[in-house]
Amino acid sequence: MHLLEVGPYRLLLDCGLHRGPREEARLRNRHFPFDPASIDAVVLSHAHIDHCGNLPNLVRQGFTGPIYCTPATQDLIAIMLADSARIQEDDAQVASLAGARRPGDRRPLYNRQDAFTAIEQCMTVQYDVAYTINDAVQLRFIDAGHLLGSAITSLTLQHAGREYRVTFTGDLGRRGLSYLPPPSNVPAGDLIICESTYGGKPHDTIEGMAAKMADVVRRTAARGGKVLIPAFSLGRTQIVVHYLRRWMAEGVLPRLPLYVDSPLAAEIDLVCDDYADYLAPDAEEIEVEYLLSADEAWYRSTQPDPCVIVASGGMCEGGRIIQHLKQHVDDPRSSLVLVSYQAPGSLGGQLLEPKPNVRFHGRTWNKWIEVVEVNGFSGHADQADFAALLAPALGATKHVRLVHGEPSQSEALTAALLAQGFPDVRAPEREEVLALG
Ligand SMILES: [Zn+2]
Repeated sequence: MHLLEVGPYRLLLDCGLHRGPREEARLRNRHFPFDPASIDAVVLSHAHIDHCGNLPNLVRQGFTGPIYCTPATQDLIAIMLADSARIQEDDAQVASLAGARRPGDRRPLYNRQDAFTAIEQCMTVQYDVAYTINDAVQLRFIDAGHLLGSAITSLTLQHAGREYRVTFTGDLGRRGLSYLPPPSNVPAGDLIICESTYGGKPHDTIEGMAAKMADVVRRTAARGGKVLIPAFSLGRTQIVVHYLRRWMAEGVLPRLPLYVDSPLAAEIDLVCDDYADYLAPDAEEIEVEYLLSADEAWYRSTQPDPCVIVASGGMCEGGRIIQHLKQHVDDPRSSLVLVSYQAPGSLGGQLLEPKPNVRFHGRTWNKWIEVVEVNGFSGHADQADFAALLAPALGATKHVRLVHGEPSQSEALTAALLAQGFPDVRAPEREEVLALG
């Protein structure tokens, strides 16, 4: 969340849900460091919950202005915010039944009506169209290649007789990931607010990912086991399923039944169909079956034949993957393929540790399942992508502020961009202010 002030006009860039230690997340999500009613408009870069997930709360607390986003982003947040609201309502109900002491815990952060109101406030703007908000502010969305609908925001601002340009990258995509269009170059600006999630890191090549995936799927099929792949429902699931189908069609992977166990991903798939021109065509000859009910998922999980199940729950902390893990974590024929970052301490992180057992759902389980990491399915730029996408902005850019990365990643990217010749690069402190004029 970044607040831009142009004279009296207040524009908020993104409004995501903070995830982290419970108490800190609770406070940061509930309380805005400004009056939501004082915000004139929001610019939303894309539909991931860490960028849009607190919009219904902003609305609940008095924001009534427009939310500018691309048409695909609006369609996706309609699904994502409704799902998030349902989770907030469920959590509050559980807290209430459990007798939470703080009244705040018994009240959801927001409800489905707030989510619906936020969607009603969306104003869609197509890519590459200069959209004039008022005399002082013009915005243009450019394809960020990170997710269906994702945008880099380029702002042209007039203040005190001078023109300023501000670029907000949102999340930047990965070059060479053919499922999505390539990310655009980052426009120069007086200020570039740039993400830094994979600063200093290289991604595996697509060929390397295919080879790793082929090895583990072949081994597992030969043993008669299941391949379990936990993945976040929006973004990662579509990328993984796209490549699994392509590799099966090309004979890189054995053709196994392919299931997606995520009702949310099934809804997202319908939106992807509406924007089929924007995405690479799927290998239609390989069918995907979406498992909607928990019963269907249990049935598929307990059938004897090998199959691949992509299930919701990126770090195995929740979601449909849990039931499959209970079924197969102690089955040496099966494999767990981790395609996302696994935070230390998360269940996924524990499963990666070379230990003979693992604790979850109130008991200790033998960990006999084969655990394999296949990196590179990320929709984020890596170090080489940052260098290439930012290079055209060199010379015409004054300040770069790096956000959305762990300190080690933003420090690595800071060093690389300074070496590349950008004059002022740093990761800002929380609530730090930068005056451009
Ligand atoms: Zn994202």
